Order: sequence, then structure tokens, then C-alpha cells
Amino acid sequence: MAVQAKKSGKARTKAEASGRVVAKKTAAKAVGKPIPAKRFTKKTIALIYDFDGTLCPRPMQEYAFLPKIGENPEAFWAESNAIAREQGADPLITYMHLLYKKAAAKNVRIDRSDLVAQGAAVEFYPGVAEWFDATADYVRKMTEGQGVTLRHYLISSGLTEIVEGTPIYRKFHNVFASEYWFDAYDLPFPKRVITDTGKTQYLFRINKGIENLGESINHHMPESERPIPFSNMIYFGDGDTDVPSMAVVRKNGGRAIAVHGGDAAGRGRCRDLVRAGRCDFFADADYRLGSSLYKRTCLLIDRMIADIRIAEEMWGLEE
Ligand SMILES: [Mg+2]
Repeated sequence: MAVQAKKSGKARTKAEASGRVVAKKTAAKAVGKPIPAKRFTKKTIALIYDFDGTLCPRPMQEYAFLPKIGENPEAFWAESNAIAREQGADPLITYMHLLYKKAAAKNVRIDRSDLVAQGAAVEFYPGVAEWFDATADYVRKMTEGQGVTLRHYLISSGLTEIVEGTPIYRKFHNVFASEYWFDAYDLPFPKRVITDTGKTQYLFRINKGIENLGESINHHMPESERPIPFSNMIYFGDGDTDVPSMAVVRKNGGRAIAVHGGDAAGRGRCRDLVRAGRCDFFADADYRLGSSLYKRTCLLIDRMIADIRIAEEMWGLEE
């Protein structure tokens, strides 16, 4: 997929992955300074987002795809879920197939570039457009000169192509989402399907620094060699479909925040997630500076920065 090809795949040496990078001797010699031995590199904080219901109120297919083929969203999802239940099929594969089956039945041709163009129709929650730079600025301000950086990742069961067409696409260090193969068959065929539990694979890819999907994630990597510890992650989701990801992040020392659109049902869902120990906080999906969501995220970031400082100090003692 284009995103991974663009943004990932740099082979890391074992030393880099372990956070112990030996400074280049030649550079140090040139300025006549003593050679600094090694440095602590586990200083990347990762904010990881679900898309539908978390960054935008509705499933991304409802903004342009379903209207284009004249489908009522509620009826479409009900039909798709009923087929999945009856056939014992995966609900994600079922919806990806049904979208194009219905488009073909109506003689509507939607190729990859059409799908990307549909991304422009997605409407986001307030403040989303500014959120990514605002949180990165906050980290920069709180850690001046300490080398701590912030990355944004997306893990979605939705469609890569639509995400690619949204204005926030470039804000992500990497995007992991379902995707089609457009030229293999009569109808576009699912190339990658990211289910709710399948999302956790991508958390481990971020954790291990193996973001190139062509590389296997399964080999053992000791905790000490993983570039982004789970304790440096905050996962943002909106409901039950995020439970596996929230559970994996939190059980491994990371944090999770649930968001809702301000409705009673959404608030109730979030409250249940907190009660079940799935997330640390919940808030209105208001991403503007100064909102509860912004403040609570900054609180968790403050704690992460302190933990990174402590870890770095302890690491220094071992040297
Ligand atoms: Mg969602």
C-alpha cells in the first residue's frame, strides 16, 4: 500500500531498536570533543486513533460512497451484518464485498481514484484538523531539547483509499486500514481487512518498529529492543470495536481514551468502557485546544514525559 511504502520500511539495526545508538566517531573527532558513548532513544510517544466514530461522527463510507450508489446507510449496514451472520462470514469482508456488489448492480463505477476523492467529503469532529499539530507542539514545548517526539498513527477497519483523500492523511506517521485490490477481479477484492481484534497486530508493529507490512511481525523481540514501548502509547477509540486494542495497550502499560459525539448513548458506552477498565478517561469528541479531551490527553502526555525522563535517568545509571 502506498502509505506504508511511503512512510515505513526503514531497516533498523539491533542497536537502534534497543535505544542504544553509538554516536558517529568521525563526527565527534572532527570537532575535537570526547565521544559520547550511547544515547537513550525510547523517546517517541505514539497517539493511535480509530477513525469512524472517533475522528468523524459516522462510518467513512456514509459520506460519499453510499449516497453515490443510492443506499440508505442504516439499511446497508443492517443488510451487511445480516449476511455476515447468516453466512458465518467476517463482517468486514462482507461489507467490503457488498459495497461493490451494489455499485455494480447500479452500474456505478467507483475506481481507486474515485474512492480517494470521496475522502474530501468526510466531516470531522471539531478541532480534528488542528489537533495533530497542536499536540505535537505541546510535546515540543514541554520537552525542549530533550529529544522527545510525538507520532500519530491510524488503525481503522475503514478504507485506506478514503483516508488517503482526507486532509488529515498527511498528519499520520503511518495509516493501517483495510484496502482493495482493484485490478485482480471483476469486482475490487479485499487486499487487506482489518478486524477489531486484527487491529492489535498493528499495535505490535508500532511497538516493535516493524511497520512494513511485507515483514513478519511474529518473531520474538525482547522488550528492551522495542522502539516504542506500550507505555508511550495512547489509544483513542469510541466503542466496543476498540475493546481489543484498548485492552492490549492498557495491559501493557499504555493509556486509552474513549470519545463520544455528545449523545446519551455514546456517553453511556464510554462510561461502560471506563467501568470495565478499558480506558483511563472519556470525553466529548471535541479536539479543539482547551477542550476536556485536549486537557486529559495532555495530562497523560505529561505523565509519559515524566516516565521517559525517569527511564532515561535509570538507563544512564546502567551505563
Ligand atoms: Mg469506531
